[in-house]
Amino acid sequence: MADEKQSLHMSAEEFRAAGRDVIDWIADYYEKVESLPVLSTVAPGDVYHALPDEPPHSGESVTHVLPDLNRAVLPGITHWQSPNFYAYFPSNSSGPSVLGDLVSSGLGVQGMLWATSPACTEVEMKMLDWLVQMLGLPQHFLSSSRGGGVIQDSVSSATLCAILAAREQITEGKCNEEGCRMPLVAYTSTQAHSHLEKDIKVAGIGSRNLRMVDVDSNFAMRPEALDRAIEEDKAAGKIPFFVCATIGTTSSLALDPIVEIAEICRKNAIWLHVDAAMAGTAALCPEFRWTNRGVELADSYVFNPHKWMFTNFDCTAFYVKNRHALINSLSIVPEYLRNQASNAGAVIDYRDWHVPLGRRFRALKLWFVIRHYGVEGLQFHIRQHIAWAHEFAGWVKADARFEILAPHPLNLVCFRLKSGDDASERLLKQLNASGKLFLSHTKLAGKYTLRFCVGQTHTERRHVEAAWKEISSAAG
Ligand code: PLP
Repeated sequence: MADEKQSLHMSAEEFRAAGRDVIDWIADYYEKVESLPVLSTVAPGDVYHALPDEPPHSGESVTHVLPDLNRAVLPGITHWQSPNFYAYFPSNSSGPSVLGDLVSSGLGVQGMLWATSPACTEVEMKMLDWLVQMLGLPQHFLSSSRGGGVIQDSVSSATLCAILAAREQITEGKCNEEGCRMPLVAYTSTQAHSHLEKDIKVAGIGSRNLRMVDVDSNFAMRPEALDRAIEEDKAAGKIPFFVCATIGTTSSLALDPIVEIAEICRKNAIWLHVDAAMAGTAALCPEFRWTNRGVELADSYVFNPHKWMFTNFDCTAFYVKNRHALINSLSIVPEYLRNQASNAGAVIDYRDWHVPLGRRFRALKLWFVIRHYGVEGLQFHIRQHIAWAHEFAGWVKADARFEILAPHPLNLVCFRLKSGDDASERLLKQLNASGKLFLSHTKLAGKYTLRFCVGQTHTERRHVEAAWKEISSAAG
């Protein structure tokens, strides 16, 4: 059969027809996702065994895959796009984002160099410059300055790049040449995200050289504890080189005091990196921009539009104050990538701004999202999420059975049953097993804590209200 045909590729006409069916499938999914159990209930191996053991010998229409998506895949999906998803931090998507991503896939561009598709680089530069304006970030993050921004796949990758840039800056390129022989030490808080430890290991610093600095009663880093740790390390002959502060920690959305931390970094010539993975999006609204106070003093900054800014995974915005520190740590130029534009130094080659060489055209989905919502549309939804989280916190506070365990200036509420850890854990399990909503947990000051994060694209006030009714009645 295959031999008789000239080509088995999908024709433009077939693509058009199948594409309509696939978009319809996604639109149908969005329409019904609210009614699906949020947390998948499949057992390990169920999805694997629902697929045939042998690959198909002959090809078939893509539309024949759709019934199998419903049968085999959907039951194994935890519905991150459900309006009843309140777990972890959101990883929200939206119509314009999906369509922008589709265009990126259609163009199939690999934008490692400016020359391999100038638009891939320049749309990205423009989107990152727009974000600087939209979030009130410092001017030195603009592409027209000494610094600039780049889209990466994750905060984990971006922080690794910040560590590498800081490492090479302090060792004057020696670690890259000789391996890391200097006694470098990095610092973050006990509440920082776990990717820090992974990145420190990958960068060859060694997890024993990562200091976890104590936090205050609001779970924010204590600057005086940071200062003391640095002094002790210096006295012991170590070289402090990197601090990661967090705007919005994963457990409780705590805000580290960036201004004070930056002063300690300045005094000791230490690279300051700021991780605002989810909370960074709040700065779209001028009234929440105080959360970014001090970011202008940081050497690098990262946040994920793929968490709370309606842009589907993956889309991480990473900014540096001095692009040369980053490029010097990562750039390698083999003969086969040499070209006139790069040689002339007139362009940005983003391959030097992260670990992978190849890169997708991720800026397109950001462009589609920003154009669809406009700045005021994005602000509207962020304000709603924060207002509903505050309303939810009000209901929790008014109920004597519950207590709130951390400040909640934005869209995360941390709470628990006063009756203790076991009762709180049982409550969470019961809620999640109901399929009606999905919350996750953490431990704060040793106490089992439920996390309720409002940030899903499709969540409306009625969902938050229904969630509270469910929680309240499940609590007995
Ligand atoms: N930093 C914080 C504060 C986070 O909450 C998370 C994930 O939720 C991360 C970093 C890791 O993000 P990524 O998956 O983009 O590496």
